[in-house]
Amino acid sequence: MIQDEIERLKRERNAVILAHTYQPAQIQECADYVGDSYGLSVEAVKVEASLIIFCGVRFMAETAAILNPSRKVILPEPDAGCPMADMISADDLVKLKNRYPDHLVMCYVNSTAQIKALSDVCCTSSNAERIARKLSQGRGIIFVPDRHLGSWVAERTARDMVLWEGYCPVHNTIIPSMLHEARREHPDAVILIHPEAPHECRILADEVLSTGGMCDFAAKSDALEFVIATERGIIYTLKKKNPDKKFFPLGVPLVCPDMKRITLEAVRDALEGSGGEHVVVEPAVAAAARHSLEKMLELSR
Ligand code: 13P
Ligand code: SF4
Repeated sequence: MIQDEIERLKRERNAVILAHTYQPAQIQECADYVGDSYGLSVEAVKVEASLIIFCGVRFMAETAAILNPSRKVILPEPDAGCPMADMISADDLVKLKNRYPDHLVMCYVNSTAQIKALSDVCCTSSNAERIARKLSQGRGIIFVPDRHLGSWVAERTARDMVLWEGYCPVHNTIIPSMLHEARREHPDAVILIHPEAPHECRILADEVLSTGGMCDFAAKSDALEFVIATERGIIYTLKKKNPDKKFFPLGVPLVCPDMKRITLEAVRDALEGSGGEHVVVEPAVAAAARHSLEKMLELSR
């Protein structure tokens, strides 16, 4: 069985598999750690194995490579990118910084290494609010690239924020009628939505949470039913951790095609050394990007 081959190769190559909660079920099953973008960053720093097989998208593998440069990071499927991360270029950000020279720059982890290198601090959806509150008061914040996460942080903190117009093409398809329908179909369920969803949908949900936040909330809540308004891979994670509770996706299934590119065969080939891409970030870019990632880890504590 391919799963046995992966286990054997992991031992032989001294490798660990890190996977995002949006990964297909069979990938989550062979992973040593499954978590959200923040948990994966923290875990990447701690890895002692020499090889990290990163089952997620490119910016996540880059983040691991930047935070733990002595480890080799392989992205099993080189085409697994994040369209939102590619919605702002380094030139765009330089122009924005020139327009608002006194603003601090906060970038969502869903960004390229070049964008992180030009930023003062990075964030994930689980710590964006906390970090924005901790940045020096009296200074505006340029937030890139997600306008929805940015508007959510601005609503919560009342900080003066300039938002880039990027968005996640998966969460951006959520529309208010989907939430109304979910409420009608599951009147006893708590509706959890990701902050990458538009404002008009977030206000119709009960809780706005990162994927890690959803896992924590579902585990602690007394509720028995939940509607999950984010990429559907997390439903597998939630059901596995909470077998007595029910989790319903929105009526229209949300699927991130990039997250679903990773297959067991690609993981095996990456472990064997015959497939995937060794993710290497140019040293000067990595050093500057590490600064904004480490600032995030410091301000999240
Ligand atoms: P989190 O893992 O921070 O919840 O982010 C979701 C996401 O879109 C990752 O690509
Ligand atoms: Fe990017 Fe959205 Fe896919 Fe996350 S779910 S990787 S933000 S496209």
